[in-house]
Amino acid sequence: MSKQRIYFDHAASTPMPGEVLEVMQAAMAELYGNPSSLHEAGRRARVAIEQARRSVARCLKVTPAEVFFTSGGTEANNAILWECYLHLGVKHFISSPLEHPSVRITLEAIAGQPGAGLHLVDVDALGRVSLDHLDELARRYPGALVSLMHANNEIGNLLPVKAVAEICRDRGCLFHSDTVQTIGKFDMDLPRLGMDFAVGSAHKFHGPKGAGFMIVRQGRPSGPWMTGGSQERNMRAGTENVYGIVGLARALDWMQDSMQENRLWVGRLRNQLLLLLREELPRVGFNGDVDGSCLYGIVNLSLPASLDAVVVLVRLDMEGISVSSGSACSSGSLEPSPVIAALGGDPSRPSLRVSLGKNNTPDEVRRFVEVLRAMVEDSPA
Ligand code: PLP
Repeated sequence: MSKQRIYFDHAASTPMPGEVLEVMQAAMAELYGNPSSLHEAGRRARVAIEQARRSVARCLKVTPAEVFFTSGGTEANNAILWECYLHLGVKHFISSPLEHPSVRITLEAIAGQPGAGLHLVDVDALGRVSLDHLDELARRYPGALVSLMHANNEIGNLLPVKAVAEICRDRGCLFHSDTVQTIGKFDMDLPRLGMDFAVGSAHKFHGPKGAGFMIVRQGRPSGPWMTGGSQERNMRAGTENVYGIVGLARALDWMQDSMQENRLWVGRLRNQLLLLLREELPRVGFNGDVDGSCLYGIVNLSLPASLDAVVVLVRLDMEGISVSSGSACSSGSLEPSPVIAALGGDPSRPSLRVSLGKNNTPDEVRRFVEVLRAMVEDSPA
């Protein structure tokens, strides 16, 4: 059996295709000027940034003035949440226990500030947000910011965005959605989806690490997030990551072009994986709304309690298979996942996240199931 590496960790990060590398290499060679400089070299870098901004805006159906480049999803989430508290006068925040740490921990910090409050919406055992409870909270705290992620990075659950946006609109709340896992994967018409704030991270959609953006819809003015320069229309000081921004825009465009194809291909692989696991590994369960509204590339497995998460990860790695346990953003840390804990699952059962991508194949899925089967069959019942 070939030992070619199998990469099943696309929710953590993705490889960059030649198309993205090419534009970044050219930018590194040619766009050395500081985009704030008035001379020709500076202007060329500025033009590249503004072209990238227009391209991102086109993909997300917003205006270029609504796109602010950041260092990634974590910064974008931090910026939006703190901006709402510091500059928009938002005091109450409604969120869920399933959010990425860049939202969850940030909201906990904001909730410790004078006058601020954090209210968590109920989720059921499959990780679905209770819309009735959300409506009740939104009614109790009009003017609050609702922060609920579009797709969960661990279990893949998709939020019923339009229903959430409707509640926000009816109750006079603002709506922020952490869209890091869905940008580039779905046709994201942000105005139609009713989001006031959204975020993106290039390395999740085959772009470079350290480049991302926040979308701040017009009419939601806010003050500077980082001070000390007038970049990003005074919102975020600091010389722009020109190469990262150029790569980000190219990657998003590239994903946009093959969106339907990717969705079909990756969705088929996911179905194959679920089928094989159900047929061959009845002792393996699933976390999240696996048969319901779920991202087409993610499956979160609940392994028998007799298996150790670290041992499983290491053995899979030795077999040439890369997957994640818990939240991949902190991979290496195998603390029990707060997301799985919030679903009320059995804490003794280790979880494993498989996240598939456009370059994966049915043979790789079969090989993964074979290797996992050997481990599960070796473990005591
Ligand atoms: N939000 C979600 C849902 C994520 O999955 C991640 C990364 O895993 C982030 C935010 C953070 O993005 P970045 O790695 O660009 O800081």
